[in-house]
Amino acid sequence: MTQIVSFIGLGAMGYRMAAHLPQTFSEVRVWNRTFEKAQQHAKDYGTQATSLEEAAQADIIFSCLPTSQDVEHLIATLEIKPGAIWVDCTSGVPASAKKLIAELKLKDVDYLDAPVSGQTIGAEKATLTFMVGGSADAFERALPAMQVLGKLIKHVGDSGAGFAVKAVNNMMMAIHLCAACEGASTLKSHGVNVQEAFECINASSGQSAITTSILPNRVFNRAFPSTFALALLAKDTGIALDLVQENKLSAPIIASTQSLVQAASNLVEAGSDFSTLAKMYESINKVTIE
Ligand code: NDP
Repeated sequence: MTQIVSFIGLGAMGYRMAAHLPQTFSEVRVWNRTFEKAQQHAKDYGTQATSLEEAAQADIIFSCLPTSQDVEHLIATLEIKPGAIWVDCTSGVPASAKKLIAELKLKDVDYLDAPVSGQTIGAEKATLTFMVGGSADAFERALPAMQVLGKLIKHVGDSGAGFAVKAVNNMMMAIHLCAACEGASTLKSHGVNVQEAFECINASSGQSAITTSILPNRVFNRAFPSTFALALLAKDTGIALDLVQENKLSAPIIASTQSLVQAASNLVEAGSDFSTLAKMYESINKVTIE
């Protein structure tokens, strides 16, 4: 395709996502705060490492940064090409999406909140799920580029809806993670072989992606690979709790899970994987979940 596409933020997700774009687009610009990563990406995948200003002069601009605040700070400094669509794959804050769509509209730039799920393996295999908020017209125009990176690409509503869906998804995942760690701690203390117990649970109604994948592949084997930081999960559960409070809802499980995830995140080293939440339960219950 003749459109110029950019990718801003080559972290655990962005590095892998941007790798697919040159298969479809003849000009792919990449920018990263630590610029050596952009240069390495250009070598690895045939993208072009450019300045941030040049990256902003593309037809479709993807971003994947830790927080909405990071995206807002970048956008505030930039001259973006009129007619461009900014596709923000950050797991962000709905209110920020509403602010950015309004600000960028004045510059004839569209903004989509387009967070993704599927972990780094989904980014690598281009099987991500995109949950997208914003105008239907911008969604249709950005769809071919998102299809290069994902499998299920869904327009879920107006600006901010994508970020809201992502925050609730990650909150539900965190609830499952806490529940599975509590269940495993209980079984271990009761003298049951935890891995055999979870084979039964995985064939029963207590199973989830946490019990079938995360516990066996990260916790039971003590691998705890760093692919998704616990601090980023705490950010997401915080966004979900803010939505509950903004709407004056009663959601006690969400409130207590946010508190648990934040506590676990405060305990571990910066950058530790979200699966290290299990270590908090191991410490307070004096068990090892293996
Ligand atoms: P990483 O921490 O691996 O990467 C963050 C990227 O953002 C890096 O390229 C970093 O640059 C850059 N960055 C950080 N702060 C700034 C800043 N202030 N200005 C400019 N660039 C900055 O994060 P992930 O890739 O894991 O996550 C990115 C987003 O995707 C998050 O919102 C996360 O919640 C979400 N997400 C993550 C998933 C995962 O499995 N990892 C799955 C789904 C969503 P530098 O190299 O210089 O540090």
